[in-house]
Amino acid sequence: MCVEKNIKSMQEKIVKAAESVSRDVSEIKLIAVSKTKPIELIAEAVNCGIREFGENKPQEIAAKYPYFEKDNVKWHLIGNLQKNKVKHIIDKVWLIHSVDSLGLAEEINKRAAAIGKIQNILIQVNISGEETKSGVAPENAEELCRQISELKNVRIKGFMTISVKDYTYDQNKALFEGLRDLANKIGSLNIEGVETEELSMGMTHDFDAAIVAGATMIRVGTAIFGARDYSNR
Ligand SMILES: *Cc1c(COP(=O)(O)O)cnc(C)c1O
Repeated sequence: MCVEKNIKSMQEKIVKAAESVSRDVSEIKLIAVSKTKPIELIAEAVNCGIREFGENKPQEIAAKYPYFEKDNVKWHLIGNLQKNKVKHIIDKVWLIHSVDSLGLAEEINKRAAAIGKIQNILIQVNISGEETKSGVAPENAEELCRQISELKNVRIKGFMTISVKDYTYDQNKALFEGLRDLANKIGSLNIEGVETEELSMGMTHDFDAAIVAGATMIRVGTAIFGARDYSNR
């Protein structure tokens, strides 16, 4: 496992995908998904210049957070967030990608207000429509944005989606373009307090389709840190 080599290779692939559609590579942020991975590997990635890390469990952010300089590393919560876990991460997390209900946004708003923070969030949208996937239905996204825009300590920065396992490149691209089009549509409404620039989409197997479709953040775990081992959890 050579994190440095993996990161270099990933960065080259990002450049290639961006250049294929004449996008400026500086528009695309690589978030290294470090879930299940030890501090030592994350530290290696930090040494390679990676500054943004994604975790899908609040308790894992809370556990890893103390090991890194606050100003050096930004933590992204990319997995399901239960309301009762918000208080454990509100002071630690840079961006919450997985907000899909008003109730969750209200809890984040309350906890953020209590510590004098404006919490950046993304709205997770279930573009694929698969029942097992979390995320707000596309047709309800505008209404949710309008409701959340009323909350003073939460700031919508854009949208996030997860594609479907085993989709082809073209299917992924179409799905990601669906999120981009939705973001453009909601953006054109100029809802006060709603920013729509950030598009968090694409993982190890579909980041190239996501970049072609307009991703501004890709969430890559396996290609950087290797396969995850869940056997001893
Ligand atoms: C685990 C995870 C990723 C990273 O997946 P890889 O296939 O390892 O790159 C990205 N996004 C979310 C929401 C995840 O849970």
